[in-house]
Amino acid sequence: MPEMNAARPIRIIGVASGLGAPAWARPGCAQGPEVLRRAGLVSAVRRNGRAARWQETLQPIDAPGADALPPLLNVLAERVERAVLAGALPVVVGGDQSIAAGTWRGAMHAAAQRAPEGDFGLLWIDAHADAHTRRGGEVCNLAAMPLAALLGLHVAALSEDDAHLHARNVIIVGLRSADDDETRLLRRLGVKVYDQQEIDRRGLRNVLEEATRRLSAATASFGVSIDLDVVDPADAPAVSTPASYGIPGDVLCEAVRGLCDEPKLCALEVAEFNPAHDVDDRTARLVLALLESATAAGERDLRRWEYECGAHNYRPLPPVLTHGRGCHVWDTEGRRYLDMMSAYSAVSFGHAHPRLVNALIQQAGRLAVASRAYHNDRLPLLLRKLHEVFGYEAALPVNTGLEAVETAIKAARRWAYRVKGVPADAAEIIACDGNFHGRSTTIVGLSSIPEYRDGFGPFPPGLLRVPFGDAAALAAAITPNTAAFLVEPIQGEGGIVVPPAGYLAACADICRERGVLLICDEVQTGLGRTGRLLASQHDGVRPDGVILGKALGGGLLPVSAFLADRRVMDVFGPGEHGSTFGGNPLAASVAFEALSLLLEEDLAARSAELGDYLLARLHQLGSPLIRDVRGRGLFIGLEVDGRYTDARQVCLKLLARGVLTMDTRRTVLRLAPPLVVERAQLDEAVLAIAGALDEVEQELPRAA
Ligand code: PMP
Repeated sequence: MPEMNAARPIRIIGVASGLGAPAWARPGCAQGPEVLRRAGLVSAVRRNGRAARWQETLQPIDAPGADALPPLLNVLAERVERAVLAGALPVVVGGDQSIAAGTWRGAMHAAAQRAPEGDFGLLWIDAHADAHTRRGGEVCNLAAMPLAALLGLHVAALSEDDAHLHARNVIIVGLRSADDDETRLLRRLGVKVYDQQEIDRRGLRNVLEEATRRLSAATASFGVSIDLDVVDPADAPAVSTPASYGIPGDVLCEAVRGLCDEPKLCALEVAEFNPAHDVDDRTARLVLALLESATAAGERDLRRWEYECGAHNYRPLPPVLTHGRGCHVWDTEGRRYLDMMSAYSAVSFGHAHPRLVNALIQQAGRLAVASRAYHNDRLPLLLRKLHEVFGYEAALPVNTGLEAVETAIKAARRWAYRVKGVPADAAEIIACDGNFHGRSTTIVGLSSIPEYRDGFGPFPPGLLRVPFGDAAALAAAITPNTAAFLVEPIQGEGGIVVPPAGYLAACADICRERGVLLICDEVQTGLGRTGRLLASQHDGVRPDGVILGKALGGGLLPVSAFLADRRVMDVFGPGEHGSTFGGNPLAASVAFEALSLLLEEDLAARSAELGDYLLARLHQLGSPLIRDVRGRGLFIGLEVDGRYTDARQVCLKLLARGVLTMDTRRTVLRLAPPLVVERAQLDEAVLAIAGALDEVEQELPRAA
């Protein structure tokens, strides 16, 4: 059994206190930990495979505000100290920021026992300086003072003993609301401040990396305190002292990713959550996302677990992706990539398209899966839409592409027996050399590629192949028992192979004359990918059956379908074919929205125009390593000269340049960005490809 997670266990300590907040905010702040606990904070951390538990929620003693705070902070300090010494990582979630004085005093005590000579550091992420020099009465001082107290300034009650921080080991990030006195004080003390302007200029992730690097170098251990008011109030309304503008919630989440794996981090604190001010639980969800991200595993662990606990049926490229938006994806290390392969055309609309995500979320909260045992109120709308858009009388919805291909094969065989009059169990299906139609045992029986077939037999009889692009070969292979010719209008996995002009039309003629169904597998080429709604339309062909998949699910779900007229589709009767998840309301709702987007934004035309542009730009590349550039619309293959390099090597070099592509058939680089890609992004990709090819060329051994 591989070691699952060596990371320190997380112990969450809630502090049900608003004692340091202004009187009107106290009850709200005191509710914070319980709201977070009920919202599932522990599960958010455990989702990362980490050990985590809610240790306890500390309640203040019953005393007037100012008197109740010091004892509470003493207990908190003791709990934090004990957790650190036990080898855990305490995460303190509390109402207002006065608790920082307790958290960090405890952490400093623990640190002093572990490394008596070492310094302690504090990374303070906050819109406010909280070093207040203002005098507004005792409570106001308490409210504002934790950092001041920790630095040994003012309010002795909070600092209690000599466990003081050195100002040189304090870094404030996100400051955007400080009075002049505070600014002067921080400068005089030598506290390093990265203010909001600097963050805007350099990016939060870079700033935080630099700050943690500094603290790691200068201290034996350090803590991180996050005051939620550092976030833009639009994303985190539930704070007591909002300051306008600020860091977007998702940016903060990404920037703290993996923070809890910092070896010198000894505790984390998230303060100032006041649920009384929350709008539709936005801030609570942000805190959960924040801690989920901070406790996330790093890329090395994730790759290792995938390898050690998974089957080795893929050899993924190195980046570990975490999120995507539009044409970009990001990895665990915060690196951004331009997505030039869009999950084999599944992500034609770009990542996380708001309309599609909205359709998904709305429907997921209503009815997701109902099975076909009943009608549902979403599937009929999708079926009608498919009918309107593609002009076939009927559609049969399934999940993955291979299921739709299986559906087509079954339909063709039954049609052959029942309509064409082929003798029982003698029907033949003809496919093409180099095809890719999926991975079921029947479908790989049609494949010409040894790695897809070898060792998976026996295959069903009646599966034949002819060379792709050769209509005469098809004519010669047809027998009275031929049920269907199954073909990709442009071969995708086979290496983006475009057949000779007129090929598909000639095949359609042959099939019609010989009484054979023409079935086009448009799982990859359909839905605008090649510049038309269906790639078969380039040849003016209307196949007897069309298989759709990938982009039909809007890049969010597997949704596929087989389309045909009644004369073929009606071979299926009740109970004779189907799938539990096929046509579920969630899938139907997303696919409906995806088709609407495709039409409303005329993405097929966009694909045609930008595809021509990209092809032309690639043709201009002068690299001697390029053997061929081909494709249609945004479905393009760049073939490299296999004597000198392979496409995977180029892929790796493109990754280093922030561009995601994928190799196929060893020498072909697949270029199929989301159809919503911008021309400037294509320019960026071309530049990167030129650079990558150049680099490969430079590395070739020179001929003597
Ligand atoms: N047909 C074609 C043309 C494909 O490209 C693919 C997938 N690459 C499939 C079928 C199979 O689809 P899935 O992986 O969803 O089963």
